[in-house]
Amino acid sequence: MKRITIAIDGYSSCGKSTLAKQLALELGYTYIDSGAMYRAATLYMLENDISSDNIQAIVAALKYIKIEFRINPLNGLQETYLNEGNVEREIRTLQISNLVSPMSSIAEVRQAMVAQQQYMGKSKGVVMDGRDIGTVVFPDAELKLFMTAEPRIRAQRRFEELMAKGDGVSFDEVYQNVLSRDLIDSTRKVGPLVKSHEAIEINNSHISREQQLNLALNYALKAIASNHIRKG
Ligand code: C5P
Repeated sequence: MKRITIAIDGYSSCGKSTLAKQLALELGYTYIDSGAMYRAATLYMLENDISSDNIQAIVAALKYIKIEFRINPLNGLQETYLNEGNVEREIRTLQISNLVSPMSSIAEVRQAMVAQQQYMGKSKGVVMDGRDIGTVVFPDAELKLFMTAEPRIRAQRRFEELMAKGDGVSFDEVYQNVLSRDLIDSTRKVGPLVKSHEAIEINNSHISREQQLNLALNYALKAIASNHIRKG
């Protein structure tokens, strides 16, 4: 069966990665979390005391950043590695969430990440989630989904996730972070978060994960079939 590229874009904490992972599993595709790459780059800058206004130092540092995804054999989950070190937990903290959007607005950072993402997805059979996947990274993706949900619902979900990990954060901090990232991500000059006209919107405020997966899987199977017919 023809393998396609699936781009999932949308607002912060919309459940994009949950859906992308489930879809990849159902289809036997590779899942790529582009947000984790921006988070890992941000962590590297933080660890090296490089702030988002020091463009020269950022450009120099980008050469030393190697990001990979590896499967943890103990639980089968995909984890993010920065220069051979497992950073999966560190990149999900509220501290990184507060720094990542300004860092991701820098053209040179985006250029480096987009090039790696295109390389990772060059053989198709990938589900990638992010903000600019259907518009910049894979404009020819056969299926583009755009996810939304009410901001308070998104913040509540992220808050519960952080609480479950034992991170002592308040709901309001998380809510403010969600709003602020949405604003920076959708107003930046390079690769802003926008819904492309061919993307299918899924608002998951009031649907279950299972319903969301069934919906997306249907779209994916249709895209695979129509692609198959067109090429065949
Ligand atoms: O997807 P996640 O919420 O983990 O992404 C973290 C941040 O990385 C986003 O708020 C955004 O600033 C940046 N990002 C981006 N482009 C992508 C993916 C993420 O700018 N394709």
